Amino acid sequence: MSVSQTLVSQLLINFPNWRPQMYFKSSLTALSHAMEDRVLADSDDPLVIASFQKERYYRQEAHRYSRIAAKTDQVYVLAAPEAEFRNSSQGYETIAFNEQDSLNHEWHLIVIGKQYSCCLICGEKNNVPHTKPASLAMEASRRFEGIWTFDPQVTVKAAELLLNRILTYRPELAKKIEQARQTHFFSSILGETGSKESPTLASNNPTDNPDPFVQRLVSYLQASQYKLLKANKSLAAKQQKEKLINSVTDSIRRSLNTEEILQVAVHELGEGLQVSRCIVYQCHEDDEITTINHEFTQPGVTSLQDTTWQLKNNPLLEQVINSHETIAINDTKEDKHLNQKKKSKNTNNHVNNLIEEFKISSWLLAPVLYQDHLLGMVELHHSQEPAKVWQAEDIALVDAIATQIGVALIQAEAYANLQDLNEQLEALDRTRSNLVAITGHELRTPLSTIQVCLESLATEPDMPPELRQIMLSTALGDAERMRNLVQDFLTLSRLESGRVDWHPEALSISECVDLALSNVKARSSEEKIPKINNLVPSKSPLVKADGEWLVEVLAKLLDNACKFTNEDGQVSIIVKVDKFDKLKVTIADTGKGIEPGRLETVFDRFYQEEGALRRSSGGTGLGLAICRQIVQGWGGRIWAESVGKNQGSKFHFTIPMFETASPGSSKKTALKSSQTKQNKSK
Ligand code: ADP
Repeated sequence: MSVSQTLVSQLLINFPNWRPQMYFKSSLTALSHAMEDRVLADSDDPLVIASFQKERYYRQEAHRYSRIAAKTDQVYVLAAPEAEFRNSSQGYETIAFNEQDSLNHEWHLIVIGKQYSCCLICGEKNNVPHTKPASLAMEASRRFEGIWTFDPQVTVKAAELLLNRILTYRPELAKKIEQARQTHFFSSILGETGSKESPTLASNNPTDNPDPFVQRLVSYLQASQYKLLKANKSLAAKQQKEKLINSVTDSIRRSLNTEEILQVAVHELGEGLQVSRCIVYQCHEDDEITTINHEFTQPGVTSLQDTTWQLKNNPLLEQVINSHETIAINDTKEDKHLNQKKKSKNTNNHVNNLIEEFKISSWLLAPVLYQDHLLGMVELHHSQEPAKVWQAEDIALVDAIATQIGVALIQAEAYANLQDLNEQLEALDRTRSNLVAITGHELRTPLSTIQVCLESLATEPDMPPELRQIMLSTALGDAERMRNLVQDFLTLSRLESGRVDWHPEALSISECVDLALSNVKARSSEEKIPKINNLVPSKSPLVKADGEWLVEVLAKLLDNACKFTNEDGQVSIIVKVDKFDKLKVTIADTGKGIEPGRLETVFDRFYQEEGALRRSSGGTGLGLAICRQIVQGWGGRIWAESVGKNQGSKFHFTIPMFETASPGSSKKTALKSSQTKQNKSK
């Protein structure tokens, strides 16, 4: 029984010159109410046909139709039933049409009276499902297309079409409908043909046409509705963007891990703004290149993941880096700025290549800053043609998110620094505990020995001179041991805390080795030491280091080599030019060697193979730690090599070479400063 052709299209077949107009739902409500109010206000008894899409819409107006029915017995109301709506003749005629009937999506109201005729015949555009209650905004945005007119011919035709539909559902009303036709159509047509006897209606009579004021009212209503809708839309867009900022901020602030922050930001931003590609990377003002590690791409878009991204040869990036301002390029092909730059040589082939290779039609670059320091960059790319225009609110959004990324990165860095600091504090704490342990033994033991010796000397005046001599040398030896420990500890503290002023100069390595050897020999004059082979040619290349500290390293390594090698063994000093413009110095011995697993540990503070509390060879366990600090100070490396126990050891370190300095002047300085150091040690 249902009809699929809409009433609007049926009507337009009959009136091909008429053009339908667009109406918002609120305008239709206002027009319908105005038409109904006129029926209620007049003394006429018109034919009224109203078609509601659904029972629920009819229910809101049911009370009006009861009042209209009190005025005229020709009232027909149509609706798709949802609960109680049925075919009935109580008060007025109700017609329940099928769910599939096109009337489901239409809104009609026809009034044909003796004084005038008017109809509103509309169909809904982009039909929205009526299953669940629509939101207010959705209701307001519903649009209809159709005809609202006072034209009697159109109105009568519309009434005829709708009455025919009614007859298909309620054939029993044929007689009543025929009567309506006789009474109302007849008068309308008579009016239109201009018969003098006709009671009234005439479409050409200007008074029957809608008043220009009414027309303007309708236009005004329509315009305000349109404005409202636009405002609603922009409000919704704003809300969506705010939501995006909040969700990105929330996600990135929740992490203290830089990688995670960048990954979340790139994803949320790329997806939120629906760009073809989004990349976020860390960089600083002086960086030349960076690697793209965090990227979002839409399916089918070429990936930049792991690509090396040049920061220098790219004028766009250079501009953002220098100005700290965001750049938005709507169309890379048309952009004047980019094209000008393209014309200026060299740099711009690169940008051109990027645009072509990675299909960048629109480009947005925003710096990630923190207190005016560049921390990174956010880039958004569009690939589609025609190029997409960046909206001011998009740019503002990206800037806001870039700021959030900056804050999150600084937060993560501060956290990492804090962790580093914690580790350093823990290490310091360990050192302190070590120091306490070593002080406990190294300082207390000699102190008690000194005390015993001095007490005996003081309380035993009859002590034989030989014993007196032994007592005195023991006290003096232990005092010397304590002095060394305190001095080494102070030196290491100065080096580790960076409180050392380096005076690099051009030095002859052979002169420094000679000086270190004389120091070692002077210290061990009474002990028997192994044979020392000085294999350093006197014409070795000059090195660049602080002479005082270089002699200190050589002396410490030579001391160790002699200490851990029997007197019938050998110690050799060799120098060799190393790669990277460095000189490699090696102190090799044939002594007790080092186990392969201990080659790195020997450089730890207080490391001694026998342990701090069981020492036979003297020493403090700080010598190699001091050497490493000094060598690292001039940018060199120090390491140990040994095949194993009793297989001898080799200690190597590197020093930068000095190529241009004149040897004479520097040698003197080296010798002078080393001499000072030697005097200081004494
Ligand atoms: P120490 O004052 O104990 O010599 P170092 O820091 O100079 O302190 O050396 C730490 C430890 O490294 C030594 O106690 C020793 O066990 C080992 N070591 C250093 N040099 C040699 C070497 N030439 N041969 C064997 N072992 C060595």
